[in-house]
Amino acid sequence: MKSNHIRVNGTLINYYFHCKRQCYLHGNRLNLEDNSELVQIGRAMHEVKAQESEHTEVAIENIRLDKLTAEYLTEIKKSDADMEAAKWQLYYYLKILKEKGIVRKGRLIFVEKNKAKKAAVILELDDVQEQKLEQIQTEIEELLLSDEVPKAEEKAGCKKCAYYEYCFI
Ligand code: SF4
Repeated sequence: MKSNHIRVNGTLINYYFHCKRQCYLHGNRLNLEDNSELVQIGRAMHEVKAQESEHTEVAIENIRLDKLTAEYLTEIKKSDADMEAAKWQLYYYLKILKEKGIVRKGRLIFVEKNKAKKAAVILELDDVQEQKLEQIQTEIEELLLSDEVPKAEEKAGCKKCAYYEYCFI
């Protein structure tokens, strides 16, 4: 039977698209991420960005929002390697905001180390995506309740994943 007690969040949605095993491990709190240098770098970048921003960083429930303006909710990512994952994570945040009466467009900005230009993608939440999000949330809940850990399959992004050693070494 499906439980209503699992809290899906934006990170889990991102991982669900990137790798179901990563989603499972993170969601079930086999959480090695605190030791991951990359995650620490990500956090530091996030803090710097928040300080540089003229807008105050806001946090609503379990979501951290980099920047909220009158028109956009902006998320800054280090790489556009997994665009789908980043998009659905941001759609999820837009949906949570909308449920609180805050309707915004999403803006994803990719700041890549070796690229001079920043790439931006604008997202608008519609009924189709909202329904898909419901479905994704249900699928994640089912995944996390399963007794079977999804198998490790090497893919782009594994080397940057906090579970890399756990999966492959
Ligand atoms: S290392 Fe690769 S296979 Fe293992 S959890 Fe991370 S992304 Fe998934």
